Amino acid sequence: MVMIGVTGGIGSGKSTVCDLFEQRKVPVFRADAVARTITEGPAKKEIVVAFGPEILDESGSLDRKALAAIVFSDEEKLELLNSVVHPLVFDEFSRWKAALPAGTRYALAEAALMFESGMFQMMDYVLAVMADENVRVSRTMARDAADEAAVRSRLRFQLSAEELIELSDFQLSNNGSLGDLGGKVSFFAVLFSTLTPPPPENA
Ligand code: ATP
Repeated sequence: MVMIGVTGGIGSGKSTVCDLFEQRKVPVFRADAVARTITEGPAKKEIVVAFGPEILDESGSLDRKALAAIVFSDEEKLELLNSVVHPLVFDEFSRWKAALPAGTRYALAEAALMFESGMFQMMDYVLAVMADENVRVSRTMARDAADEAAVRSRLRFQLSAEELIELSDFQLSNNGSLGDLGGKVSFFAVLFSTLTPPPPENA
């Protein structure tokens, strides 16, 4: 079975690409969604210890907006949060992978921080979904009803297009329509079903 990571900048279309693969019955692990669940659950205690009780709202739930405001304006705080959450996401991924049905040809794992988190080491190949910065910003603003400054403030923590191209095995350009994207996903679905895991690096 071949494990393919899907990554890309904010608003590049990672989730949309994975939705289209899921419609083709390809199993998809959503690292970002799992991280959100973990943040509210198993990691909550540690996050409160690290960030202080002001990170909780009146009902005692994690104030995700306050946490986002802190970590997206302070790289060290972002690293601290990631160091708590990422190992738990990796454990969850390993459990999910072990439970995939026998005969699965390939599966996908979507993660915004595929390279930064080290998760790429658990992948056989990585697909980077690429779109021009202005396209990504306007799609994200429309999706999240967010203002441009908030979206752009998140971009500076992300890998550049050049870095993504250098690090990934495949790139999918998503500047076009949703129809175009469907055609590209069909192409990659055929390609992925022909892949075998790469040989170990020192073989
Ligand atoms: P994030 O990193 O913020 O989670 P993402 O990379 O997963 O984002 P999506 O949520 O898939 O990106 O896409 C961002 C928005 O752009 C969504 O509202 C999606 O429906 C829309 N979108 C994605 N691809 C296209 C496209 N080719 N044409 C038009 N809209 C698109």
